[in-house]
Amino acid sequence: MSALGNYPTPVERLPSGLWVKRDDLTHQVYGGNKVRKLERILDDARAHGARRLVTIGAVGSHHVLATTYFGTRAGFEVEAVLVPQRRTDHVAANVRAGLALGLRARPATTWAGAAVKAWWLSRARGAYRVALGGSSVAGAMAYVDAARELADQVRAGELPEPDVCVVALGSGGTAAGLAAGFAIERMKTRVVGAAVSRPVGWLGWAARRLARKCGGTLSRAEARERLECDASQLGAGYGEPTEAGARATEEAARAGLVLDATYTAKAFAAAMTRREKTVVYWHTLSSAPMGKLLEGAPDEAELPRGVRKLLLKSIA
Ligand SMILES: *Cc1c(COP(=O)(O)O)cnc(C)c1O
Repeated sequence: MSALGNYPTPVERLPSGLWVKRDDLTHQVYGGNKVRKLERILDDARAHGARRLVTIGAVGSHHVLATTYFGTRAGFEVEAVLVPQRRTDHVAANVRAGLALGLRARPATTWAGAAVKAWWLSRARGAYRVALGGSSVAGAMAYVDAARELADQVRAGELPEPDVCVVALGSGGTAAGLAAGFAIERMKTRVVGAAVSRPVGWLGWAARRLARKCGGTLSRAEARERLECDASQLGAGYGEPTEAGARATEEAARAGLVLDATYTAKAFAAAMTRREKTVVYWHTLSSAPMGKLLEGAPDEAELPRGVRKLLLKSIA
């Protein structure tokens, strides 16, 4: 497999006692959890003889930006169908950076419409469909490896064996791979996925289903035991900031961690509510400075009209 990132990522203990697995540091230009997934996905695309990657995401999607950065560097064209999302500076910067890197953006108005469009585009010769959030079995398997990496750190005495691991639950590949990996490693660690979108019941179901496909021998009951879906931090829905998320962001900032409103603020807030003895929060947001990726990027006002319209006004 062709590694893109730097491993193992460090584990740290915050003054509050919470442990943090620093997957924000997977890569110096663009880190976060999509780096591990893309190592396996790009290998699979190459094995299929693909020249173009077709994917889907919200306009400020980290997955689309990561696929664009690592995909174009590996010689692929990258095309993504994008759907509207509440505008934040972070969301706007992500799409500006993607376009600067050569992303072919195809705006859509609804997720259902976007899925059809992406399916259609992925039927072209030489095209390879990259799942939402990179959460195919191949993408999730990267987090089975990551669970093994944490198990090695436990064995090396860097941290006690965690009771729970809290991570944002979006398309589910990260939580699924970790749950399967902890089971394979025979660790006691349970995964708590902080749901970031709706419908929550489906999110948990899909993540457990994916976990069972990641090798190992998880039964349905074991998957339910291993992977819990925590809906308490979702608030008004995907990309909608919450008060608990804002408090989590302040708390994390005191420890030197930067969070985003869509995923990590909600996951960190969920981690803060846990009462188990050893809790590890898995940090999935890139902490690499965006400056390099925004060099030569279009200003927001210069974005193609169809893309600009995807940045929904913030509710004041
Ligand atoms: C994509 C993403 C997630 C969610 O991971 P999934 O594997 O899609 O559940 C969490 N945090 C950040 C910062 C992300 O970009």
